[in-house]
Amino acid sequence: MARSISILGATGSIGTSTLDLIERDRDAFDVLALTAHSDVAGLAAAARRTRARHAVIGDEKLYPALKDALAGTSTEAAAGCDAICDAAAMGADWTMAAIVGTAGLKPVMAALKRGKTVALANKESLVLAGALMTRAAQGAGATLLPVDSEHNAVFQCFPHDDPARVRRIILTASGGPFRTLSRDEMARVTPAQAVKHPNWSMGAKISVDSATLMNKGLELIEAHHLFPVGNEKLSVLVHPQSVVHSLVEYVDGSMLAQLGPADMRTPIAHTLAWPQRMKTPVEPLNLAQIGRLDFAEPDLDRFPALGLALQAMKAGGARPGVLNAANEEAVAAFLAGRIGFLDIALIVDKVLSVYNPGSPENIDEALMLDAETRRVAALALERQAA
Ligand code: NAD
Ligand code: MG
Repeated sequence: MARSISILGATGSIGTSTLDLIERDRDAFDVLALTAHSDVAGLAAAARRTRARHAVIGDEKLYPALKDALAGTSTEAAAGCDAICDAAAMGADWTMAAIVGTAGLKPVMAALKRGKTVALANKESLVLAGALMTRAAQGAGATLLPVDSEHNAVFQCFPHDDPARVRRIILTASGGPFRTLSRDEMARVTPAQAVKHPNWSMGAKISVDSATLMNKGLELIEAHHLFPVGNEKLSVLVHPQSVVHSLVEYVDGSMLAQLGPADMRTPIAHTLAWPQRMKTPVEPLNLAQIGRLDFAEPDLDRFPALGLALQAMKAGGARPGVLNAANEEAVAAFLAGRIGFLDIALIVDKVLSVYNPGSPENIDEALMLDAETRRVAALALERQAA
């Protein structure tokens, strides 16, 4: 029987990679719902190709355009944030959570509450409300599978039955496009340079995060929630080739690693077929051609965002959520040309130093904290841009 699947954020980089995989095996999957924020054409085309039952656009003003674009199909159109949550709550057997930013939190919670399988790409929701999310998943009996390549690698190497066997989890980082640049050189980089990742093709926000190394910081916090071995066992290693996607070191000195091409279709396929495996069109690694693998310690002086994230992880409570929301605002301002590249970490640092709320106890409090952080960040950005 076909498995029902939904994709939240179907028009993005992860969303289209997911569609690519399921469209190669149309009979195996029944597409329940696809969602997007504003790309009506992309959403409608995907809904037509996959004969999706529901297509939801986040921006309510675009409802008539979506309705038009789906004319003559049996796909039901809907619009608005609540409609995205409704789609997430429809109970698909497998849901891809690939909305970018904390905008994905409510939809992913709606999916988790149905107790099915959720493949999680949307790391920001976990950074803001990881404890609440993992508790909800446990309560509902949902299976949360990590899509982020590092966490998917760790998941594949991890002793799930006895985490005490782990001495260390090592997340690898490519180092991004500015790995070898000095701070002076980084001060002059443009948004176009920052979104051009040397190894991966990704959405704009995560590409900038990879350039500042904030992405690796968010991923440490993500790992903290997904693999509860204790913060002191989480570490980062720069590995410019992006071949080893992460490692688990055991107490006996063994290290297990997952290697693969820099193509998100491999980790996505892992979550789609889990606990089985499926074929993908991904070009296999040619290790002889790659020849060598390099590793180095991250440089926290040149990449302060990683240090800020480490501190936020150690402090816990509301700190990761404040870090994340301030970063989302700063990255948006950088992409809009309002601030420079080095200002991103400066803004995050400033917001963390002036705003220190208590730990959120539920999702509404987490979203309030997120919104309030953005107001504080907006003030800091105004001053910085002036
Ligand atoms: P993207 O910008 O390419 O796509 C984002 C998707 O979310 C789009 O479909 C967009 O329509 C939707 N969206 C954006 N804002 C929304 C809103 N306010 N409400 C509803 N929907 C909204 O991003 P991406 O690169 O695909 O990344 C998606 C998530 O996956 C991010 O959290 C990112 O950190 C994570 N991730 C991405 C990659 C990658 O290779 N691209 C790798 C690991 C993790
Ligand atoms: Mg990653």
